[in-house]
Amino acid sequence: METLQRSPLLEVKGNIEVKRPLPKPPSRLPLSGSRLKRGPEQMEEALEPEKKRTRGLGTKIAPSRPRAALLTAVPQTQGQAAARTAPKKTGPRCPTAVATVLKNQKPGPAVPAQKPGTAPPMVGGKKPSKRPAWDLKGQLCDRMAELKCCRERNQILDQENQQLRDQLREAQQQASALGIERRTLEEELARVRVQAEQGQQELGRLSARVLELEERLGTQEGLVQVLQREQLGLQEERRGLATRLEEQERRLQASEAALSDSQAEVVSLRQEAAAQAVLLAEREDRLHGLEMERRRLHNQLQELKGNIRVFCRVRPVLPGEPTPNPGFLLFPGGPADPPTRLSLSRSDERRGTLSGAPAPPTRHDFSFDRVFPPGSRQDEVFEEIAMLVQSALDGYPVCIFAYGQTGSGKTFTMEGGPAGDPQVEGLIPRALRHLFSVAQELSGQGWTYSFVASYVEIYNETVRDLLATGTRKGQAGECEIRRAGPGSEELTVTNARYVPVSCEKEVQALLHLARQNRAVARTAQNERSSRSHSVFQLQISGEHAARGLQCTAPLSLVDLAGSERLDSGLALGPGERERLRETQSINSSLSTLGLVIMALSNKEPHVPYRNSKLTYLLQNSLGGSAKMLMFVNISPLEENVSESLNSLRFASKVNQCVIGTAQANKK
Ligand code: ADP
Ligand code: MG
Repeated sequence: METLQRSPLLEVKGNIEVKRPLPKPPSRLPLSGSRLKRGPEQMEEALEPEKKRTRGLGTKIAPSRPRAALLTAVPQTQGQAAARTAPKKTGPRCPTAVATVLKNQKPGPAVPAQKPGTAPPMVGGKKPSKRPAWDLKGQLCDRMAELKCCRERNQILDQENQQLRDQLREAQQQASALGIERRTLEEELARVRVQAEQGQQELGRLSARVLELEERLGTQEGLVQVLQREQLGLQEERRGLATRLEEQERRLQASEAALSDSQAEVVSLRQEAAAQAVLLAEREDRLHGLEMERRRLHNQLQELKGNIRVFCRVRPVLPGEPTPNPGFLLFPGGPADPPTRLSLSRSDERRGTLSGAPAPPTRHDFSFDRVFPPGSRQDEVFEEIAMLVQSALDGYPVCIFAYGQTGSGKTFTMEGGPAGDPQVEGLIPRALRHLFSVAQELSGQGWTYSFVASYVEIYNETVRDLLATGTRKGQAGECEIRRAGPGSEELTVTNARYVPVSCEKEVQALLHLARQNRAVARTAQNERSSRSHSVFQLQISGEHAARGLQCTAPLSLVDLAGSERLDSGLALGPGERERLRETQSINSSLSTLGLVIMALSNKEPHVPYRNSKLTYLLQNSLGGSAKMLMFVNISPLEENVSESLNSLRFASKVNQCVIGTAQANKK
């Protein structure tokens, strides 16, 4: 009985066990090992097409839905499974009966047995009432009924089992098909993943590219804006330029019109210029002729005035000096005429009258080319010599001396008073200024002039450069008078500076330097300047290149040493002996000067130039063609009357000399 009871259960159990390893409904996504970390929903979405395909398959699987019901029933108890399936096909509720059988395997308390065939039927699923233990027949009957029921049930289950096996097979086939499909899908998924990965990479690349392009776009946009701005600027500029161009074109047209007018004018002007040039050449010729005529006449005039002239200048009484007697110095002549005469009265105390009364003063009359009384200004004096100075530009040597005793105004006449006051400028700066200005005028006629200055001092027959600078300052004895070259008439002083000058400023600088050099000598040798001759020489060279004319002449301006005699009655100490030597030297050179002038005047064959350094140096300024002017400077003081008379006598002698007709040094 037990085997009978158990076998259907075991069978059922076996059936269920067989079903247990049935594949679960195919999991749609193999999540494990997926590299794409996504949630189930995402995966659903990602595999939407797969789902659709599975749904397509689902239509095939649809008939196996009962299988799903079975499968879900697997974990349930056999009783429950039986309870569900049994009522469908069997009338009585067998599971309850089975359960009851199983429970009652042990012999329970005796239940009254029912009669066979009288076992209460389980109509309507109600549990039959328990039979008493003694009712074995009834129980057997029940058991039989149960057995029958079980057999039926078994049969049903067999059928069902068969059905389920079929379903299982079908399901297995479907599972294998699904497995294949799954593999395909997995491969496809892998492919899709690779593609997705590639897509992702591509996406990354593309986004980087997009970023890059956006960046470039930004830059390009910036550039475009800049360019647009630039374009606007350029357009503006272009408009401006176009306007300017139009303006320029208008002006050009106007200029072209003016040019053509001008060209026509130029042609006519050229013709006119050619005519003017012819006229100019004629005028230049005439002018040159006139200039030559002027020079000739100028020279004639100078000759008429005398090639050697003597001017007498009396200096004013200086502050602190005794006022002379009113009749001591007189300048006879009318107020209209320039004075040329001078009278000097001297009362000789040694000459007494027989009655014992003092002899009346002796009057000494002198006549010169011109006399300048004490009030004469520097410019008045220069006016008289300006024409003479100008002769030097025409090629005539000119020499101007200042002769007189110390303190008579020689230096004042030649160089001037205190430096810096243009009113008291002397002859040297005035003469040079005049020469520069006339040379400038003559440059308009084609003459070019150059001037070279030198300034030396002759003391005790030694020559010293007054323009010396630096270490050579204050040194004497190194300078010698030499001919400029073998056979040359020109004389130069060795080691002396010859300075080209072209303006007043340069001359002022030279005079300043000479004054400084003399000041040095003065402290060393007690007023040497008054005991020496100062010779300023200007070598003038003129050239008319167009006509091939040249003229050269020296202008010499000489401040002679004091002409006073040494008082022979004085005791001769060492200082006086030196003074005596100086005086002898001065007297000698001054008398030589007189002798030279005489010899020239008398046209003697021998002129003793070489007897003194002074005459030797001035040789070219004193010769036949030279023009000479001597200023005799006189002190207005009565105490200097003897020296004044000596000077006036010497000057008178010179004044009587007439040097032969001057010849210009022209080539
Ligand atoms: P020298 O050179 O003959 O020794 P200076 O020229 O040195 O004489 O003159 C002596 C003084 O007399 C100087 O102080 C000078 O300024 C003054 N003197 C000379 N001549 C004049 C003049 N014409 N007008 C004013 N002062 C003069
Ligand atoms: Mg002097």
